[in-house]
Amino acid sequence: MENELHVAELAVREAMGLCLAVQATVDTAVLEKRDRSPVTIADFGSQALVCRSLAINLPADPVVGEENAGVLRQPDQSEFLDRIRNELAARGVTADGETICDWIDRGAAAPCDRFWTLDPIDGTKGFLRGGQYVVALALIVDGQVEIAVLGCPSMGNADSEGLVFSAVRDGGTRVAPAADPDDSRPVRVSDCAESIMARLCESVEPGHSSHDRSEMIARTLGLQGEPVRLDSQAKYATVADGGAEIFLKLPVDADYQEKIWDHAAGSLVVTEAGGTVTDIHGQPLDFSLGRTLSTNSGVVVTNGPLHQQVLAAVAATETDRDSGNGN
Ligand code: AMP
Ligand code: MG
Repeated sequence: MENELHVAELAVREAMGLCLAVQATVDTAVLEKRDRSPVTIADFGSQALVCRSLAINLPADPVVGEENAGVLRQPDQSEFLDRIRNELAARGVTADGETICDWIDRGAAAPCDRFWTLDPIDGTKGFLRGGQYVVALALIVDGQVEIAVLGCPSMGNADSEGLVFSAVRDGGTRVAPAADPDDSRPVRVSDCAESIMARLCESVEPGHSSHDRSEMIARTLGLQGEPVRLDSQAKYATVADGGAEIFLKLPVDADYQEKIWDHAAGSLVVTEAGGTVTDIHGQPLDFSLGRTLSTNSGVVVTNGPLHQQVLAAVAATETDRDSGNGN
């Protein structure tokens, strides 16, 4: 898996560079106009770059990405496609619009025995508000995550150009500055075993994870601090690196099924750093069922020692909806 890891890290770093360049163009005027075009350009550009890299280096591997080029191929989108083309050209990748759409659509494969799953920008709201977002890439073989790369452009210090977390199953998790890939170090979860000392992180968006329920759980566990709210799988990276002990994603909408690209990379980054990842009922995340985690509900991520206690606190706040008795 060494070659796969190397290819994945290169691809993610390239995409992070594009995201940072586009994010630098987001200003308050864009935000006030509620203009989402920068994130859309970065999203498509990131998927194009990662899929292009995988096509060149691992041509037999399909990619299950969040985006497809259907909309971009429409004639009235040519100006938009030009903007994506310019961003790629600025990073030394010159191609016509058709080729760019083909790269993006390389990410429209169906899940199978062995495939990569990609979220070209996880945390689009974080991207727009200058918060956390990630480029998440994982290799899934026979339903198991084998390789994970989480590119976190807004983590680390100003010189690092973001941090890249990488994990290989049974091989541990490492992190390196995007600007200096050779300067990597091992990543370990915190060894905190006392829940009152534990730090909780959760989604910024209350529509993605119930803040009311996490508040009840925090009270049950006796947590002292306020929750840290972050967009994207940066929450998995934070628990993996000992910056928090607990990350909860608590269902708001009973019909919502978690997407594999929102959890595959993050979950291996945490488990290989020594942590534990399940759904809210303590079941392992099942990546063998297609594009969604259709048999799981939410996620519970901890440093390990606290897992059973956290699951018990989650269960104590169980609603009828979670147990399937809702209407
Ligand atoms: P977060 O960064 O924690 O806010 O989670 C972002 C992810 O939540 C996105 O990548 C979406 O795929 C996912 N998402 C979108 N709608 C929902 C929903 N109703 N419930 C849970 N997650 C959602
Ligand atoms: Mg996402």
